[in-house]
Amino acid sequence: MNTELHTDITIGDICKGFVYNEQEGKGLFGMNGRLIIQPEYQRNYIYNDGRKDVAVIDSVLHGYPLGLIYLNRRPDGLLEVLDGQQRITSLGRFLTNKLTVRYDGREQKYYSLNAELQQLFSKTHLTLYICEGTEEEIKKWFKIINIAGVPLNDQEMYNAIYSGPFVTALKAVYSNSLNPMQQKWGTYVKGDPKRQEVLATALDWVSHGNTEGYMAAHRQDTDITPVTTCFDSIIDWVSATFPTPHNEQKGLPWGTLYEKYHNTPYNPDEVDRRVFELMQDDAVTNKRGIFEYVLGGCTDPKLLNIRLFDKRTIKTVYERQTAEAKAKGVSNCPYCAMSSGPNHSRIWKPTEMDADHVTAWSRGGSTSIDNCQMLCKTHNRAKGNR
Ligand SMILES: [Zn+2]
Repeated sequence: MNTELHTDITIGDICKGFVYNEQEGKGLFGMNGRLIIQPEYQRNYIYNDGRKDVAVIDSVLHGYPLGLIYLNRRPDGLLEVLDGQQRITSLGRFLTNKLTVRYDGREQKYYSLNAELQQLFSKTHLTLYICEGTEEEIKKWFKIINIAGVPLNDQEMYNAIYSGPFVTALKAVYSNSLNPMQQKWGTYVKGDPKRQEVLATALDWVSHGNTEGYMAAHRQDTDITPVTTCFDSIIDWVSATFPTPHNEQKGLPWGTLYEKYHNTPYNPDEVDRRVFELMQDDAVTNKRGIFEYVLGGCTDPKLLNIRLFDKRTIKTVYERQTAEAKAKGVSNCPYCAMSSGPNHSRIWKPTEMDADHVTAWSRGGSTSIDNCQMLCKTHNRAKGNR
């Protein structure tokens, strides 16, 4: 792979004929059409948050370095940005008056700067490497130089490595924040479409967790129906099973839950009512576990992380139980006291006992002192396993 260092190219040169696609939020071309700012394997422009993009402009106006920019020369002679897309797009947006910064105590666009500053800005030299190599070499290298600013996440990396018609078609659906479906998906799927997190979920679901293998196998596909069908089936199933959306549903492993439960019939009204009850129950400390608990027929309270008795309750119950047991000459574990074994009259220390719900929480027992008893660890475990 060849690399040449260039220090003669200015911001003005790079941004000549800058084209920005407002709808997709990305910079497209520069250098009078000779530079492709966003090759398909690049991530979307994510600096337009009024902070990172402004910081790029501030750096230039204050004469700070912008860091290295890497370009790739393609066989047809066009250049594409390997690293620096975010910075170039910020510069281009500023030069075309699409970005406002605070300078000299007031809000300014490029045209409102004085002529001297405008000159200084557009004549600032960039430090850039222009590389030439095979696609394989360039992509391997792109993985290594993934340095400045926001690191690429796994999905952004996969999109680069397995770029092609499949990724392009998937991104048009799942990475497009203007897709009106994003709002509905956002109830169940966590993350920012622009950072490829919705796409990551869709691929995780269809591939059962083997995203990279799936992308490698389907790289040249133009048909993304298997992905969209799987994704839609899961979303439709969740929203039909739980008619009322809850914030706690966001980002749950719906793919796995779908596999496990989609053949089980549910009564959505009944499900809704049960979820609502559990949401109101103070003893349920893991509200996100409610959905799996209900899908599984309310049999596994571990999913809910039921609140334990507090230290004061435990101490009070231990002391009362122990005093009564000593007076009767039996064990302070009521189960041991009923047995005829060697522990019949054994007095356990507090550390040898656990607090137990007399009536199990799952059968409506509350986590209050009236429903608390101390059992030796062996009997508590035996009761829990019943
Ligand atoms: Zn016992």
